[in-house]
Amino acid sequence: MLAPAVAFVDLETTGMTAAEDRVTDVGIVRVEGDTVSEWSTLVDPQCSIPAGIQALTGITNAMVARAPTFERIADEVAGRIAGCVMVAHNARFDYGFLKHEFARLGRSFTARVLCTVKLSRRLYPDTSPHHLDALIERHNLSAPDRHRALGDARILWAFVQALYRERPLEEIELAVRRILKTPSLPPQLAPDALDLIPESPGVYRFYGLNALPLYVGKSINLRERVAAHFSSDYRSANDQRLSAEITRIEFEESAGELGALLRESQLVKSLLPAYNGRLRKRADMVAIWIGADPGLPEFVHSSEIDPGALDGLHGPFASRRQAREALRRLARELALCWTALGLERRDGPCFARQVRRCAGACVGAETPEAHHARLQEALSALAMRRWPYRGMVGVHETSLIARRTEVHVFRDWCWLGTAHDESELGAMIETPPRAEFDLDIYRLLVRRLGRARVIPLGAQGPSPAERKEACEEAGL
Ligand SMILES: [Zn+2]
Repeated sequence: MLAPAVAFVDLETTGMTAAEDRVTDVGIVRVEGDTVSEWSTLVDPQCSIPAGIQALTGITNAMVARAPTFERIADEVAGRIAGCVMVAHNARFDYGFLKHEFARLGRSFTARVLCTVKLSRRLYPDTSPHHLDALIERHNLSAPDRHRALGDARILWAFVQALYRERPLEEIELAVRRILKTPSLPPQLAPDALDLIPESPGVYRFYGLNALPLYVGKSINLRERVAAHFSSDYRSANDQRLSAEITRIEFEESAGELGALLRESQLVKSLLPAYNGRLRKRADMVAIWIGADPGLPEFVHSSEIDPGALDGLHGPFASRRQAREALRRLARELALCWTALGLERRDGPCFARQVRRCAGACVGAETPEAHHARLQEALSALAMRRWPYRGMVGVHETSLIARRTEVHVFRDWCWLGTAHDESELGAMIETPPRAEFDLDIYRLLVRRLGRARVIPLGAQGPSPAERKEACEEAGL
């Protein structure tokens, strides 16, 4: 058997997002030695089930109307999974929903989780897909109650029994061990060091003997990410050296991924941890400036950029070297001139011209204006964007697991700070902190603001009524 006790778990829900959607059906098949006990209940999600989901699962609003709420079954669910490895298909989904249902009750829920998609992938690497219907067909599993929680949980139990018929025991056990990735913590850390780390978003720091951290990382699940550094399966050379030097772990929770990214960026730049390697160099980011008239492109360091005057700037690039490499690539593709791009200094034909790759701006075969227009066109896709809002905005993140709400405040692509309550937000709006423009933050925001819920905080600062509304909107 996989472990002393195994709980095959399946849930039906009102949607796909654990933070917003709710559980409507729970099925648990607990297998302990020779004892198999099944349990299942519909759950009142305290909201309406979308029609498409009703059609898929056959669970209607009428069916759950008189079912218990999750609060009433929470003890039963916890008890039936306690002491077990929890086995589920796409286990992250079910585990995430359970964690959030418990978090709504102010309780925490953790379990060791084994995903049957991963298990199938490991044991049958040459076949695909690995969704539940594919497993049913491939292993001839009977599936009378497909798409109901208990029906699907039974299928998982049947799948594992099929594995034991089809594959050698050692192979299955090896696959299970790999997936569970039991981390072997470095001996200098306390054995329960991982248990103290929450499964919430945030940043973590590894320390050796010095006051400065060896490494700074971020994750939406701190414990899982930290454990991954020490799991024997995927350990990189860097992680092996870290394991030898680490003496303690510190962490800070955040309300979401953006908060974790912002904090990581700030810590890496200010502390320059020895093992952050590539990330560390973010402090070297540059943009390429080209003027309206022909002239050499210039590299502008992050700290020299005025966010109110981004015209002519393109990027960002990780370093001067990368920016130069980008120009070289453009030169190759579009027969631009090396001398006109500032990639070399010489009179007469440039290097590219000598190998017939330059259209000839260096020898008068192309006018400086025509060359410059082609360069502008080539770089236009990388043109830095003006701040698209009027003044300050807040981006709101909430984590049920970490039980916190944060509002990250930005203006002109600069991160002014993060407020944790109404008075902090009020203070920030009243007296905006100074913040330097930073290409790394710019890059982060360009990628993420489009998807985020952005609350305008007013051009000249909002009126008290507007501010109250913004706070309410943000849930502060
Ligand atoms: Zn040339």
